[in-house]
Amino acid sequence: MNTRHLLPSLLAALLFLGGCYTVPETGRSSFIIPLGDDVALGAAAFAEVKAKEKISDNPIATERVQRIGKRIAAAVGDALPGAKWEFVVFEAPKTVNAFALPGGKVGVYSGLLDLAESDDEVAIVMGHEIGHVTARHGAERMTQGVIAAGVGVALDSATKDSKNHDLLLAGYGLAAGGGMLAFSRAHESEADFIGLRYAAKAGYNPMAAITFWRKMAKTGSGPKMPAFLSTHPSHERRIADLQGWMPQVLPLYEKAKLRY
Ligand SMILES: [Zn+2]
Repeated sequence: MNTRHLLPSLLAALLFLGGCYTVPETGRSSFIIPLGDDVALGAAAFAEVKAKEKISDNPIATERVQRIGKRIAAAVGDALPGAKWEFVVFEAPKTVNAFALPGGKVGVYSGLLDLAESDDEVAIVMGHEIGHVTARHGAERMTQGVIAAGVGVALDSATKDSKNHDLLLAGYGLAAGGGMLAFSRAHESEADFIGLRYAAKAGYNPMAAITFWRKMAKTGSGPKMPAFLSTHPSHERRIADLQGWMPQVLPLYEKAKLRY
């Protein structure tokens, strides 16, 4: 059966389901077609990662990440409705990496904890990853993909849970087995900004973003450059942006510091 003539009306129907989302901390309006229960899919994807990767048995590292995570979660507030926060350290000393999934699921690889000497630096990276989630960058990217790919694929994906799940993983760049994500440069920059604000509101020094990314730039120049570096904005650009945002985030930090 030829269904091609139905596609325009189906696409119109899908677009009708979409809505505007206001990104927390930046106020940007994005257009998102809901393709499923993000929170449930995020939890399922996280369970899968936990089953596949080695969970750290280092109590100090685990306590550290959970302590930082809880403070950032408090700074996020109700920007992530339905979140059941979970912070897990994965044992992978060579992986300088972290990720976050919808529903407040956050994974940190032990290699990141080795590179990030201070809690402030860990908070910057976790804030960035959580920023991608509260900004719903994965859903926005999937929406753009759906519109680009046409309704045939979209409808198929939207009606089958397992496919939807794969789509979510792909949207978060996890299909290839975890790792920092290949979002667009605009999304990366927005996550930097949001993450900086979350870290500052959680009482972590936002200046740590500068020291951390300088360190990453040095790591990246070596022969074992992590793959994700190539998809992220250049370090110079990123550091310049972060420096430009300091005057507005440092007061948040000064205020929050008194509470912690
Ligand atoms: Zn990112």
